[in-house]
Amino acid sequence: SKSRSRSESLYKEALEHIVGGVNSPSRSFKAVGGGAPVFMKRGKGAYFWDEDGNRYIDYLAAYGPIILGHAHPLVTEAICRAAENGTLYGTPTELEIEFARMLKAAIPSMDKVRFVNSGTEAVMTTIRVARAYTGRNKIIKFAGCYHGHSDLVLVAAGSGPSTLGIPDSAGIPVSIAHEVITVPYNNLAALDEALARWGEDVAAVMVEPIVGNFGMVMPKPGFLEGLCAAARRNGSLVIYDEVITAFRFHYGSAQTFDGLPAGTDFAAIEPDLTALGKIIGGGLPIGAYGGRQEIMSQVAPLGPAYQAGTMAGNPASISAGIACLQALQEPGVYARLDKLGAELEAGLTAAAGKHGIALTVNRICGALSTHFCSHPVTDYEQAQDTDSERFAQFFRYMLEEGICLAPSKFEAWFLTTAHTQADIAYTVEAAERAFARMD
Ligand code: PMP
Repeated sequence: SKSRSRSESLYKEALEHIVGGVNSPSRSFKAVGGGAPVFMKRGKGAYFWDEDGNRYIDYLAAYGPIILGHAHPLVTEAICRAAENGTLYGTPTELEIEFARMLKAAIPSMDKVRFVNSGTEAVMTTIRVARAYTGRNKIIKFAGCYHGHSDLVLVAAGSGPSTLGIPDSAGIPVSIAHEVITVPYNNLAALDEALARWGEDVAAVMVEPIVGNFGMVMPKPGFLEGLCAAARRNGSLVIYDEVITAFRFHYGSAQTFDGLPAGTDFAAIEPDLTALGKIIGGGLPIGAYGGRQEIMSQVAPLGPAYQAGTMAGNPASISAGIACLQALQEPGVYARLDKLGAELEAGLTAAAGKHGIALTVNRICGALSTHFCSHPVTDYEQAQDTDSERFAQFFRYMLEEGICLAPSKFEAWFLTTAHTQADIAYTVEAAERAFARMD
């Protein structure tokens, strides 16, 4: 098996200086049996090389942004050009206008856009804007959807189907958690119940329109229509967190994706506000939010809702984002991701079947999730009710085979435009060997 001795010694060193040895807890191997995470040294296309020189096929894609693969030449060139001209001005630039135009053209529900630095900031600000616009305080969110690490959305469901939240982290006041109501995804009855009980205080219903955070989960037919209608009847705004989903399945966002359930009424599922991040930065830090003119007019300097940022709209991130979206406009990009995704899904399913491993694969275009269970996964409860031990085993066997997955059973695999059919074929063979060791 591969030596990862340099990763192990670097991890020891990192533990002395960086809390937990990692700069985001999702990078730790805590959920897959612990030990040193792999320290990567270089990425190119669909591959990573670690500090010991081992090569991996990358399905982590940095938790989603790297849809073009690592060091895509057009993105690299855009970043170099931006660096030569100075990376940060603190003034407006023409680039920001160009990028705002591109995003608005692709996501027509956004009349106005504002750039920030992360998905967390984008979501956090949509909540402030919704509160400013409605004069209400509470937010409804869905169990298992992740919306960044700001106080308000780092809150889990209480015990009942429709209860006030409990903090998911130390350091969040219970009073803040009580401003959040968590209900199960794909469950309109629970949403109605929450609105009946707390409706007049609810500023917004926040949702990942297609879920990326407890596996890839599609809304059931009518779910988004029902959600939007219920929110509107109640005078609440609808916020779509499209940090993962925008530009993932087609050139646009989930709200205009023709892979949504047949018969989706696209006019009826349009959100009031949308939060963006990940792919739109081409691998550099970014977030953005946007929505209807009258709502976005709440934002300073036009309106009373304050939001600012020293790094916001910086030329390097914007340039990388423009280059990334331009590359995604090439004909056939998403059809190819879909085709490779289908091959990976079919291969994994067949390999698991051959070895009697219960596996549910949820796939949307080039994003798929593997759940060690024999039931479908359409909500968080079903996703939680999957075999963590099996996933941990599979994760480690795949790592030995040179396949890099996220160290979490809930996280999706992301294909990039750099993956090849040969990569998929090798991955399926590796999975088959892993399943053979597990059965
Ligand atoms: N929203 C969603 C749907 C996400 O998946 C994430 C990150 N995984 C965020 C928000 C937070 O984005 P960031 O990590 O850039 O703050």
